[in-house]
Amino acid sequence: MTTSPAQPATPAQQPHPVSGGPIVQLPTAFGEFVAQAWTDLETGAEHLAVSSPLPATDGKAPLVRLHSECLTGDVFGSYRCDCGEQLAYALELIHEHGGTLLYLRGQEGRGIGLANKIRAYALQEAGFDTVEANEQLGLPVDARSYQAAAQILAEMGLNEVRLLSNNPDKQDRLAQAGVHVVEMVPTEVPSREQNLRYLQTKKDRMDHRLVLDMQPAADPGAGAAGVESGVQAG
Ligand SMILES: [Zn+2]
Repeated sequence: MTTSPAQPATPAQQPHPVSGGPIVQLPTAFGEFVAQAWTDLETGAEHLAVSSPLPATDGKAPLVRLHSECLTGDVFGSYRCDCGEQLAYALELIHEHGGTLLYLRGQEGRGIGLANKIRAYALQEAGFDTVEANEQLGLPVDARSYQAAAQILAEMGLNEVRLLSNNPDKQDRLAQAGVHVVEMVPTEVPSREQNLRYLQTKKDRMDHRLVLDMQPAADPGAGAAGVESGVQAG
């Protein structure tokens, strides 16, 4: 991949010790799943693995989504970002094709926390883009660590995965942590007027693999075709 100025060199990461709890049923609006909580014994952060109860339907490496917590997007359905729609789309794909979504808590605003994310939003309303806003606050553009995530995947037996992500940096960081990403499966959801600049910045400054030429989300069904073909091509 090409490196962008927004991405500092990442040192090799040691996995964090983690502890998994019991596996329980989790019936949801997206179908039946099983869930297991995992505790990062180094930071105390509690994460949740949500898996399809069935093995991958096509015999390939399982789909895995590492979803960074986004309260505004995931819970309130904010259109300032695409997190909530990516979460829903990943759950639909995992329910259909098999796999695991690892919900990583403590990763608000790419790791800067909820209050700082809202501060960054205020700066964005003053004209800065999502990268510049973090820089204005003296905060890293991406402070997320996947040391616990990689260890959780290893302990779940998910050593080879098809990663549901548009972010090549996530693939690189997982590889450093020992998880083999056999394929990146795009999760691009239709852009919206409210998040187009945010997504454009992700594409231009953070090397995210986004097309951004789809119909607006107001058109039901638009945008899913590219993601579906990505899955089938995998
Ligand atoms: Zn978000």
